[in-house]
Amino acid sequence: PSHAHDDKCIFCKIAAGKIPSRKVYEDADIFVFDDINPWAPVHFLMIPKAHVASMAQVGLAHEALLGRMMALAPRLAVEKGCKPYPEGGFRIVINTGAEGGQEVHHLHIHVMGGPRPWIKG
Ligand code: 5GP
Ligand code: ZN
Repeated sequence: PSHAHDDKCIFCKIAAGKIPSRKVYEDADIFVFDDINPWAPVHFLMIPKAHVASMAQVGLAHEALLGRMMALAPRLAVEKGCKPYPEGGFRIVINTGAEGGQEVHHLHIHVMGGPRPWIKG
């Protein structure tokens, strides 16, 4: 299928394979890749292939897509090396807008996990 793209968007280019990335998962609508500057031992980004700028643009039309992305996250976290629940774990973050810390304006779900010895002994 073809998707709406923004020619200047770095994540559209990553989803299209025009900029290389370490791919974690791909299907017709979703692309997942390792964050280039990880904040945790496991840190990947889940994006819709279609250009959606942020959570602020999400509506009911995106319900199924967002649901599938969220449902996929735990499986991919374990595949990337997170131990299974409840010992292992991860956090999901969606930065939205300038005050929300969003730097890349193509909707992305951060999934961060793995051993984090600085949190607890
Ligand atoms: P934001 O602050 O927008 O939520 O996060 C953007 C994330 O994208 C950052 O964690 C940053 O490291 C990551 N990122 C930015 N440019 C690239 C890139 O070209 N490749 C990859 N793999 N990650 C990127
Ligand atoms: Zn885009």
